[in-house]
Amino acid sequence: MESARCVICRDMARCTACGMAVSGFHHVGVRKPGLSGSSVMHYSKECGHRVDIPVAVTGASQLSPPAVYHGGPVWKDGYRWFNIFWGSFWQSNSWVARIGKAVKDIESDPSYSGELRQYGVGMGKLAGDYIVGTNPTSSVSAGDIGKEIQLLIRSASIPDLGTEGAYNIFLPPGVSATLSGDRSCSVFCDYHDTVDGNHGPFFTCEPYPCQSGCNQCNSDPFDTLTQGLSEEMVELKTDMNPGTGWVIGNEEICDYCDQHFECNRITTGEYVNAWYDNSSGSCWTP
Ligand SMILES: [Zn+2]
Ligand SMILES: [Zn+2]
Repeated sequence: MESARCVICRDMARCTACGMAVSGFHHVGVRKPGLSGSSVMHYSKECGHRVDIPVAVTGASQLSPPAVYHGGPVWKDGYRWFNIFWGSFWQSNSWVARIGKAVKDIESDPSYSGELRQYGVGMGKLAGDYIVGTNPTSSVSAGDIGKEIQLLIRSASIPDLGTEGAYNIFLPPGVSATLSGDRSCSVFCDYHDTVDGNHGPFFTCEPYPCQSGCNQCNSDPFDTLTQGLSEEMVELKTDMNPGTGWVIGNEEICDYCDQHFECNRITTGEYVNAWYDNSSGSCWTP
C-alpha cells in the first residue's frame, strides 16, 4: 500500500483547491521549467487536484539545508536501471544507444554518483533497454506508465527489478506526460514516481525534450534530456518513494540546487543538474 503521507502533508486534512477532505496524496518528484518550483508535488487522492502546501505547513518544517532523511528506501550498490523507449519512433534511432551511454556515465561517475555515498546511496548499473513497438496515446499519465511497466514485466519483455532498481521511461515527440491536470512542457519537464510506494516499481519519466524552459545551458535537445535525466536519477536514488527519503523541506536534493543553477558537465561530457551536498554545504560541482 502506498504511503499516503509525508512529513510535509501529514496534518493536511483538506484539498487547498476545492476543500474536499483528503485521505492522502500521490507524491511525485517533479522538475519544473525555469529555476524554481521543483519539488515533491502533492496530488489529492480524492479530487486529483495539485495542492499548494500552505506556508503555515511548510513554515513549521525545515526549509533550508541540510538535507534530512525520513526513513524511506534509497538506492544500494548493485541496483539496476532499465531503459524503456515507448513507441516506434525509437526503432533504429541513434538516441537509444546514446541515452544508454548517458545513463551508464551518470551512474558510474565517481564524483557525481559516487559522492552520493554520504547519503547511504550506492552505485548501480544499466541492465539493458527495450523498445515498445506500439505507440502510446497522445498523453500518458503516471498510472498509464505503471500499467505498461507491469504489462511488460508479465510478458517477460523487461526484467522484474522489484525494489532493487528502476525504469527510465522515454516518450516520443508529440506525446505529453500528464500528472492529473498538469502537462509536460507546460507545468513540468520530467518527474520520478513509484507505482506502489515503497514496493515500486520505481521509475523516471522523460518526455521528449521540451523546446523551452527545461535547459538552462543551451538549446541542444540531447543536453536538455540529460539535465532532466540526471536530476531524476539522483532524486530517485536518494528518495525512491518521493518525500520519504532525503529531502530539504518539500524539495528533493536537486530541486534545491535548481534555484542556484550552474551549468555542469561530468567528465564524460554529459550535462548534469547539481545535487545538494551535505558534506560540503554547497551544490555539487565537478
Ligand atoms: Zn506529502
Ligand atoms: Zn481538490
